[in-house]
Amino acid sequence: CGIIGYVGHDDALPILRKGLSNLEYRGYDSAGIALGGDRLNVYKKKGELSALEAVLPESSTATTGIGHTRWSTHGEPTDANAHPHTDESGDVAVVHNGIIENYDALRAELESRGHEFTSDTDTEVVPHLVEEELASDRDLVDVVSSVVDRLEGNYALGVVVAGRDGIVATRSGNPLVLGVADHGTFLASDVPAFVEHTRQVSYPEEGDIIHLTEDGATTYADGKEVSREVQEVDWDP
Ligand code: GLU
Repeated sequence: CGIIGYVGHDDALPILRKGLSNLEYRGYDSAGIALGGDRLNVYKKKGELSALEAVLPESSTATTGIGHTRWSTHGEPTDANAHPHTDESGDVAVVHNGIIENYDALRAELESRGHEFTSDTDTEVVPHLVEEELASDRDLVDVVSSVVDRLEGNYALGVVVAGRDGIVATRSGNPLVLGVADHGTFLASDVPAFVEHTRQVSYPEEGDIIHLTEDGATTYADGKEVSREVQEVDWDP
C-alpha cells in the first residue's frame, strides 16, 4: 500500500523508518525494509510498525534501501507474505503496490524452471523474474524493462539488487513520486513519505523505468532517456 526508497549519502535505515511511519495514514497490515549493498538485508513483519522496529538493527551503514507497508490482496498478512520479496539467492529484493493479475501463470512457469516460492503473494513472481533476467548480466534498467513486459495488472515497483548501484523503479496504474534532495534521491507512493527531505518532485508517467542513484533519477521510456518536469510541492507536514 505504501512504498519508500532512498539512495544517497546518508544512512538509509532512519530515513526509511521515518518514511514508513509517514505512510501509516494509508493503512497497512505488515511492513518491511531491504537495505542494499554487496549483500542485501531484509527485515519484515506482520502487524504494526512497532513489530518491524523490534527486528530492525539499531544502525546500519547502508545508504540504499526500500521499504513497504502492505495492504494484502493476495496471501494473508503474515511475516512471509510481507514485502520486500526476494528470490532464492537473496540478491534481489522487490517492493510492490498493486496487483499482478497474471501471477498464477507466471508462478507455474517459474516453478517449472525450479524456482522455489516462499510466499502466497502475487508480488513474489517479480524477484524471481528479475533473477532470471540478471543471469544475462544486463543493465538493471534493461532487466526490469524485460520483466515488466511479462506483467499484467497494476503496479508500482521498487527493485534493489546486491552489488548494483541504486534502485530501479517503475509504475503502471499505481502512483509513484520521485524526490531529489541535496543528500540523495527518493521514491515513494506519495509525497508525505519524504517531505522532510525535499519538495522537489517529479511524477513518472505510465510505463516509465527510473534508475535512482545518489546523484538523481534518470528516466527511460521505450528504452530511451526522457526528462520529466520537476515541480516544487507545497506541503504542510
Ligand atoms: N498485491 C500485493 C500483496 O498482496 C501488494 C499489496 C499492496 O499494494 O500493499 O502483497
